Amino acid sequence: MEFAALVLDIEGTVCPISFVKETLFPYFVAKVPSIVQSSETQSDTIKDLLSQFNITDKDALSAHILGLVAADKKDPILKQLQGYVWAEGYSSGEIKAPVYPDAIDMIKRHPNVYIYSSGSVNAQKLLFGHVAGSDGSSIDINPEIKGYFDINTSGAKIDASSYSSILKDIGMADHPEQVLFLSDNPRELDAAKQVGIVTGLAIRPGNAPVPNESDYVTYTDYAKL
Ligand SMILES: [Mg+2]
Repeated sequence: MEFAALVLDIEGTVCPISFVKETLFPYFVAKVPSIVQSSETQSDTIKDLLSQFNITDKDALSAHILGLVAADKKDPILKQLQGYVWAEGYSSGEIKAPVYPDAIDMIKRHPNVYIYSSGSVNAQKLLFGHVAGSDGSSIDINPEIKGYFDINTSGAKIDASSYSSILKDIGMADHPEQVLFLSDNPRELDAAKQVGIVTGLAIRPGNAPVPNESDYVTYTDYAKL
């Protein structure tokens, strides 16, 4: 095994960058009107979240929520509502995470896999708990993952200090050269490299082109990891 531990980004690295924009967000937008209209029959959590917007007229409430989404507002109530609606979508099987098959294999094969994503740890666990299997079922690969990090646990992904903190947490502070961080974002890779972590640039369909790609070790698949 070339690396003692793997630290993986999610979007653009182990699943298509379009998943959030083209699946999760439209799923939420499509659900909002019916959730608001039938708010009386929703779970207490949803009722409580909706009431926190302080808008009694249902059409106005729907429009307000959709407006926040359209404007990409980082509203904490909206974020909680989205997380809850997505959780229900995952558990009902309506949403499955399109993790690349070779990424699933790598995660299963390597004994020490960690995730570092700007999406919350909760959202990460939901995603890996409902991965689209090759037969159309949804599979839980969380048991294959040793730990999860996000911007709350570890700091921003473009800060070198975040990677020092992760190295410490995974017991690799003295051996950063045995840790591989995979991401589609060169700025994240540069930050990890500053603390001695080995980096790999994920080149997957739909990722933004990286102008100085030749400065990085690139991976178009993970068969060798
Ligand atoms: Mg990414």
